[in-house]
Amino acid sequence: MNDLGHDNTTTSDGGMRTLLRALAWSGHGPGAPDTWPPELRVAVDLMLAARHPTLIGWGESAIVLYNDAYAELLGERHPAALGQPFSALWPDFWYEIGPLVGAVMRGENAHLDQRELAIPHEGRLRPRWFDISYAPLCSGDGKVAGFFHSAIDASERVLDERWRAFQLALATRLREVTSAHDITAAASAMIGAELGAARVMYAEPHADSHAEIQSGDFVVRSEWVRDDVPPVVGRHAHLDRFGPQLVALLRAGQAVVVRDVALDARSAASIASYERIGVKAMLALPLLKGNRLESVFSVQVDEARDWQEIDLRLLQDVAERTWTALDALRSHAALRDSEARLSAVFDSLPVGVGVTDLEGRMVLSNQAMQRYVPSGVMPSRDPGRIDRWRVLQADGTPLARSDFPGARALRGERVAPGIEAQYRDDDGVESWAHIGAVPIRDEHGKITGQVSVVTDIDRVKHAERLLRESQEKYRKLFEQMDAGFCIVEVLLGADGQPVDFRYLELNPMFNVQSGLRNARGRTALEMAPGLERFWIERIGAVAITGVATRFESYSEKLGRWFEVNASPLGEPGARQVALIFRDTTERHRTEDNLRRLALEDAEASRRKSEFLAVLAHELRNPMAPIRTGLEIMRLRADSPETIERVREMLERQTRQMTHLIDDLLDVARVTSGKIEIRKQLVDLNKVAASAVETSNPMIQGARHQLAVNMWNEPLLLDIDPTRIAQVLNNLLTNAAKYTPPGGQIALTVAKEGREAVISIVDSGVGIPLEHQATIFEMFNQVGRNMGLSQGGLGIGLSLVRQLVALHGGRVIATSAGVGQGSSFTVRLPLGVQAAPGQDEPVQPERRVAQRRSFRILVVDDNTDAAESLSLLLQLNAHEIRTATNGRDALIMAEEFMPDIAFLDIGMPGMTGFELAVRLRQIAGLGGMTLVAVTGWGSDEDLLHSREAGIDHHFTKPIAAETVSTLLSTIA
Ligand code: ADP
Repeated sequence: MNDLGHDNTTTSDGGMRTLLRALAWSGHGPGAPDTWPPELRVAVDLMLAARHPTLIGWGESAIVLYNDAYAELLGERHPAALGQPFSALWPDFWYEIGPLVGAVMRGENAHLDQRELAIPHEGRLRPRWFDISYAPLCSGDGKVAGFFHSAIDASERVLDERWRAFQLALATRLREVTSAHDITAAASAMIGAELGAARVMYAEPHADSHAEIQSGDFVVRSEWVRDDVPPVVGRHAHLDRFGPQLVALLRAGQAVVVRDVALDARSAASIASYERIGVKAMLALPLLKGNRLESVFSVQVDEARDWQEIDLRLLQDVAERTWTALDALRSHAALRDSEARLSAVFDSLPVGVGVTDLEGRMVLSNQAMQRYVPSGVMPSRDPGRIDRWRVLQADGTPLARSDFPGARALRGERVAPGIEAQYRDDDGVESWAHIGAVPIRDEHGKITGQVSVVTDIDRVKHAERLLRESQEKYRKLFEQMDAGFCIVEVLLGADGQPVDFRYLELNPMFNVQSGLRNARGRTALEMAPGLERFWIERIGAVAITGVATRFESYSEKLGRWFEVNASPLGEPGARQVALIFRDTTERHRTEDNLRRLALEDAEASRRKSEFLAVLAHELRNPMAPIRTGLEIMRLRADSPETIERVREMLERQTRQMTHLIDDLLDVARVTSGKIEIRKQLVDLNKVAASAVETSNPMIQGARHQLAVNMWNEPLLLDIDPTRIAQVLNNLLTNAAKYTPPGGQIALTVAKEGREAVISIVDSGVGIPLEHQATIFEMFNQVGRNMGLSQGGLGIGLSLVRQLVALHGGRVIATSAGVGQGSSFTVRLPLGVQAAPGQDEPVQPERRVAQRRSFRILVVDDNTDAAESLSLLLQLNAHEIRTATNGRDALIMAEEFMPDIAFLDIGMPGMTGFELAVRLRQIAGLGGMTLVAVTGWGSDEDLLHSREAGIDHHFTKPIAAETVSTLLSTIA
């Protein structure tokens, strides 16, 4: 075997070299190797050394010699094929191969790429793809003696290309579809066609309930079938019905490959289920989520099939891509959902939100924002819209465009909380908005835009304004009202009971009405320590019960009356009470005064009636002795002694009556303000002396001892000496009256500081303490003079006090009590000028207001009228003349020089007006009083009277009262 055995390069010549040697000895073939031409030997060596299936065809009939790899391709036909003509080797393909062999024998190279051949493999045939080539083998003479043929397995490349192409197609297809159903349908159709399947199904757990998923009930969601295969889409069945072992694999996440359901032990028992849907062989792939079987992709064929690895790989791809696409779809749908939700929320936001780029263009904005930026550009960058916005700064100037929040945010500023601005809508209506803006930055911190938020705050502003207005109104009200106002917070103790309250708010009148200063922030007890608990309880109750109250009460502590309106404020928990109050002290004082005055009035009128009774008595008293005295004088005219005594008695009684009546008249004058005080500088000592002189008879009569202590030098006072003498006389007379006979009386004149002091002290009945204050009131007599009725009307002291007061002085009475004597002290201011000697002698008992008598002329043409008027006037002891005409009257007046003339107006000859004028022209009568007494009383007549210089105008008949009033005014 030197020719076939020296090839030391070959490694794969297992049996082939031996077989070739054997062949050499047989009768056919190329003969013994040593007879082979060298080119054949070289070719055989190469062939045997080749790893790919390689064959040599030699000679006319192309006797074949091949290597081990080729032997594998031939399967059972080897080794019989060795030494056979090539045409016998592939009879089925000779139509393809023959032309190639013809060509190579003509000296050309020939090849056939990717020829699919069913190659025996593990007892079965399996498709393989080969690149087949033929190259001519030439003999030494250059003729083609045979060919060199190799078949290189290109299956991997072919399958790979197929897989790639399928993947590309699948990806393209899946990209086109958008629904879950379309995805599974497209994927099923593609794999079905690719694998030449009868059916591809995509099954999922029956999704009605989780329990069913666990139970293994699956439904066919989507399906692809070959035209002649009945569909089963929508049907559902329990997985276990297809063989529990297979199902277990799926649940474990493993692929199921069944070549023949009838022969596979794992499915054979469930053959009926397979037959029902016409399945003979199948591939199935599970999808697990967690450890739950989510879905199954299955490729089925209606005849037994040797599934190739590529089939499973394609199915895996399809399944994976389907699931990925479904996942993407789901998450895309979820994303879309959440985006939709987000945009719904975004759009329904009550605030406008807008995101702009650096140029101020809106890149995102919600509905609310559209109103403000319809042009899609932020206002500060939009000259057409910026004037819609009005923003005033604190100083009242409009905000510059570059200071708008959006512009500031683009410069990197966070404009939060932002500014308030007024925005004018298309319809011209302005509303308030709040604008805030913040910059948006990328990951390097570079500003890429800004986001603005615009909030419509018009209603807030409106409410704010209303609130402000109402606050303002209330503030004004509280400030201007004249009542005190405050808001207090009631402070509670541990037991929940009010213990104090704090002033929170006060109005200006608070101070005035309460008398408290700077009370704000302080408590009632701080302001007025010891304030009555009543106030705190009463106001606290309002806070606790929430019930308003109104009351009036007196605070001893504050010394005031208060009328209070207390109302709860806010929630009960706030414990706040609004108080409106008034200081009513003045009103109470007035009321008290009125009450006292009413009492006093009643008392005065009681005293007045008493006085009248006393007056009647006092006047009647002297009448009896006077009448009796007169009777005695008539009867005993012969006895001068008796008459003298009676005359003294009569004088006394008359004096007493006169005194009484004078006092009465004086009181009346003082009361009506008509008393006349004629002040002059006099020495008080002298005035006192005159009073002593006047009262002496009375003092003597009662056998009192009178001590008189004058001031040792003249005490000059600017007084009416008559009146002051009257005062002292009254006091001395009282001392005499209210001292039992034989008592002591002392009169002292002294000087204390700028005052003269006269005191009259007696040892008499004294004055009970309770009467000392009221003794100077008119008609006041102490206990009917304690049995010492000396005659008197209870007006003397009243007169004393009033006269002293008229001189700017005062008088007081003191007494240690009943039976302890009394002391009356008069104080008078000293006179300013010291001019002794200028005083007139005092004329005691001279009445100033003695009635004047006038000379009166009555002129009336009616003699009766003239007569009656003159009678009326005569009653008042005037000197009267009458005339019946103007002429007589004028003559009479010149001689009579009347003080007053009563003139009738309507007289024949000369009227009263004319007469009046002419009377006044008489020398010395210019100042006389002219009175018209006439039947004429119109306004015109009155005017005439005035023009004629008439002083008074009366209509007839003139009343006696009118006449006396008239005369008293003239007096
Ligand atoms: P009259 O003496 O007319 O009653 P007065 O006004 O002079 O009235 O005096 C009022 C009263 O004051 C007297 O009624 C008497 O009760 C009391 N009174 C006045 N002077 C004295 C006095 N010197 N001693 C005690 N009581 C006096």
